[in-house]
Order: sequence, then structure tokens, then C-alpha cells
Amino acid sequence: MSNRADRLTEQFPAAEIDALLVTNLVNVRYLTGYTGSNGAALIGAELRAFLTDFRYAEQAAVEVDPSYDRLQVVQDLLDGVAQVLPEGQLRLGFDDRAMSVAQHAHLREELPDSVELVRSGGLVERLRMVKEPAEIAAIAAATELADASVEWLLSTGLIGRTERELAIALEHDMRERGAQGPSFDSIVAGGAHGALPHAQPRGEPIARGELVVIDWGAELDGYCSDCTRTIAAGPAESDAEEVYGFVLEAQLAALGAIRAGANGKQIDAVARDLIAGHGHGDHFGHGLGHGVGMEIHEGPRLSLRSTDEDIPAASVVTVEPGIYIPGRFGVRIEDLVVVTDDGCRILTGIPKALRVVD
Ligand code: ZN
Ligand code: ZN
Repeated sequence: MSNRADRLTEQFPAAEIDALLVTNLVNVRYLTGYTGSNGAALIGAELRAFLTDFRYAEQAAVEVDPSYDRLQVVQDLLDGVAQVLPEGQLRLGFDDRAMSVAQHAHLREELPDSVELVRSGGLVERLRMVKEPAEIAAIAAATELADASVEWLLSTGLIGRTERELAIALEHDMRERGAQGPSFDSIVAGGAHGALPHAQPRGEPIARGELVVIDWGAELDGYCSDCTRTIAAGPAESDAEEVYGFVLEAQLAALGAIRAGANGKQIDAVARDLIAGHGHGDHFGHGLGHGVGMEIHEGPRLSLRSTDEDIPAASVVTVEPGIYIPGRFGVRIEDLVVVTDDGCRILTGIPKALRVVD
């Protein structure tokens, strides 16, 4: 873990900073191992400091990587920053995506004029994009657990049970198998409700002949999984089957286009163009995919607006095209994959041919 901070400091010359204050708790965990709810890290060429308050001192002693000096701060973590920084002129980066305007003003007050504050959000996130082998193993284990839970759920049947009941059963089963919880609120959405990409499960029973969109994931050992399958609750209507075929075709084509060095916008376009070619361009209103790791949504992005020009090897992304027909039904198919030099390795193990479940 200590080499993560070393790799972080390699980015400092380009970012024109001498040190970085890390306040986003996911980033703090990534760098130091700390899992509590109040902690910050200061990283410089020769500086590894971790700050927390007395409530977490014991937890920090156990969890925080020994390469860090641990400091206990009386109240506000930002009060401790000035004590830890070396003397003299210094450009200190801070995460402008994680710090409020009030916190920034407070920090400015605490620091001497010799310290210049520099907006430096995204540096740790850039590191987190490229997964270490142990991280990929953790994501694969979360995926396997989530796969097993949905297989169990499908074996117990869909028709006549409410979306809420199914979502709760799925989440409960993931916990029973060892997950800390779902990695996000599970989606179970039947019929026309499935046409909302972020549908919330309702108290409505699943009816025979509906398509049911199930989007779920497990959090295991601090890492997330993410998958979607669209299941036919009893035989589906022929136009629903046809649309399912379009989405599957787009999903397979996009999977075929992924490789290290590819660009997020172009991969998205592979799926988007196919869906538009079938006349459903207006029915695919979200991005093709997103990175997954310690957070359910992280870099890189595969979308119309993606600025990720060079998807790195060992990043983990979803591939999840969908077609949503208002008032009728929705179809989404989502796999989680590891990007490799010549393609990708699919972690999701659930089959993708349209499945009919009573
Ligand atoms: Zn999902
Ligand atoms: Zn997703």
C-alpha cells in the first residue's frame, strides 16, 4: 500500500504541487488503509502524515499503513495541517471536488502565507483507475457473490412478487453470503417501470409477460460489483424480444471494441451507432459505462461526453447499453470487465441470452 503514495508523488511535478492534502475518505482509505469517518492524509516527497481525532486513534493505529506518521487533532482535521507541513515556500494541492468553500476558507486561515493552495482534485482518482491484482481479485469476488445471489433469486421465481420484495430478498441474500451490503440501491423494475433507467423498486407485483430489469451489485472487502440483466417473466412479446436482441448486439460489439488505449467516446459510439441504426437512438439516453472499484461510479467513463482518451490496462469498467421505450418496457444488459492490452476479461458470469423465468 505504501507504494501508492510513491506513485502519487510522481504526479506532483506535472500538477505543479509540492504536497497534497487528501480529504476525500475513499482516497484516504486507498492511500492509508483507514476505514473510519474522520481522517485526512498529507503526502509530499518526504511527507507521509495521517490526521484523525481521538475517537479514531485506536482504529488508526491498527489500520493506517506504518509508513505514515499518525497525528491526533483536537477538533478540526484542518487545524492539524499547518503543524505537519515543512517550513518555507510550498505549493499545497487540495481536492477541490471534496472540499467545501467554508473548509477552504478555514484552511487558508490556518496556513502561513508561504503556503499556496492549489486546486488538485482527481490525482488519487487517476491512480485508483488502474487496479492492482489484489483489487481486481476483490472486484471479481464481489461479482461472483452478486452473481450467486441473483441466480438464487431467479430460482425462487418472479411472477406475482413485488419489485420491492425481490430487491430486499436479493440484498438480504448478498449480506448472508458475506457482502457488507449492496454496492448501490438495487433496481428491480418490471414492464413500463423498467423504461426508467434508475427506477426505484415499487410495491407492484411482477406480471406475466413483463420484462424485468434487475441492476444490482455487492460490496465486499471495500470493493463494488455492478451488473444488470433483463429477464422475461414468462414468454415476452415479440417486439420486446427484438429489442433485447438489439441491446445484446450493441453490448457484444462494445465489448469487442474495448482494449487498453481505446477512447471512452469511441467505445460508447460503437454501441450507440448500432442502437441508432435500429431506430432507437432516442431510447438510449445514458452513457455506455463507468469505472468501478472502491466506488460504484469512478473513472474511466465510456460515454458521449467522456474525456478519457486512453483507457488504461487494468482499469475495470461496466458495459451497459440499454433501450427504454416509454410506457412499454426497458432493456439493459451490463457486464463488468477488466481492460487488457488486447481486449477485456469479463468478470460477470451470468448468461446473456434472454432468459424466461416464471
Ligand atoms: Zn448497474
Ligand atoms: Zn453501472
